[in-house]
Amino acid sequence: MFNFENSAAWAGARDQRDELASFREQFHIPRHQESESVYFCGNSLGLQPRKTRDYVNQELEDWAKLGVEGHFKPHTGWFAYHELLRESTARLVGALPHEVVVMNHLTVNLHLLLVSFYRPSADRYKIICEGGAFPSDRYALQSQVEWHGFDAEDALIELQPRKGEHIVRQEDILAAIEDCGDSLALVMLGGVHYFTGQVLDMKTITEAAHEVEAYAGFDLAHAAGNLELQLHDWNVDFAAWCSYKYLNGGPGTVAGAYVHERHARNPHLPRFAGWWGNDPAQRFSMPHRFVPVPSADSWQLSNAPILEMAALRASMELFERAGMKRLREKSLELTGYLLHVIRAVLLDKGNPGLLEVITPFEEQQQGCQLSLQFNTGGRSVFESMTASGVISDWREPDQEGRSGGVIRVAPVPLYNSFMDVWRFGEALRTAL
Ligand SMILES: *Cc1c(COP(=O)(O)O)cnc(C)c1O
Repeated sequence: MFNFENSAAWAGARDQRDELASFREQFHIPRHQESESVYFCGNSLGLQPRKTRDYVNQELEDWAKLGVEGHFKPHTGWFAYHELLRESTARLVGALPHEVVVMNHLTVNLHLLLVSFYRPSADRYKIICEGGAFPSDRYALQSQVEWHGFDAEDALIELQPRKGEHIVRQEDILAAIEDCGDSLALVMLGGVHYFTGQVLDMKTITEAAHEVEAYAGFDLAHAAGNLELQLHDWNVDFAAWCSYKYLNGGPGTVAGAYVHERHARNPHLPRFAGWWGNDPAQRFSMPHRFVPVPSADSWQLSNAPILEMAALRASMELFERAGMKRLREKSLELTGYLLHVIRAVLLDKGNPGLLEVITPFEEQQQGCQLSLQFNTGGRSVFESMTASGVISDWREPDQEGRSGGVIRVAPVPLYNSFMDVWRFGEALRTAL
């Protein structure tokens, strides 16, 4: 498909032709000794856009100059500051503008959405989730189940890969949904698995969930800013994501949430309420009864964290300019090149079994990230690469022995280059 070559000349020439290449200059790239490091950790903490500081400083200055009047200053008044992120966020996840809201943090948003979308009854109380889910997601689901008086062991159906396989097959997910049938309340999965990098077919899974009258919600921590999402068209009920990974909003910054309009505009759907979710026209008149804004905004509780939002705006502007379509096209090629380079290095070493790429190879099942599993020696490979200026992420072997140690690497199309990938390959060669 692509004519890859594992050479600096090929990578350099490909970067020359890359129409997104100039976005790299919009970021601070961490340095290692005399040169830029190879930063493949955008799936964990995205880099800082150069403009972030200006956006944040602007709000600090307005606060210094205007005090409380800042709430109503023209254009960027804090009263409606979250509106500034609405359109770009909606485009990013393929939603209508009133289906998204930027608020809180990921796990908080999961809980708020579960309050509305997990209302179990004695017959319908099960949740399908992934085995080996990100701990915060598992804790959120466990605690919700137990808070409703059910037993997590019974209510949580954790999908596992088949014996000897690394990823859960789509057909097994669909079969599990069908098996649960009327007892299923909710399917709650990561759109991209944080550990294996597997991308799920969210549309088909949502259809299957609806078939048995269950809801489908997704954690998009590793999907937002990574894939082209179509949450509205896929009919997904709800979703939440963080903004500090692929979205480069800064450490721990304000997160996002999506609620399909058929729910967002349903005033009878129970939700936890706060003044910022109330109809803004009445926010300061403090009516007695909560009147939800007919949009995802009605899940907002508190007034918005302006400094975090200012930081996120700097990055969302870059996503707007680059566009998810072009980013995804580059991403497929960049990650495809990474796979090519890794295979070439293993071949040169005469030992293709030194590591195994557990991320599926098919385009529809792959995002930026590849997960490289080592039976032995992974940790020292990781440490050696880190010492040479390659920033990636190490996950210890599974305690139950289900998997060896894993290095996760994620070249991101906004600021990584084909040369970064080639340099990664050379660092891997040395480390092996
Ligand atoms: C990163 C990540 C989180 C982190 O949750 P926070 O509430 O932002 O701390 C949760 N779930 C998944 C799947 C993640 O990848």
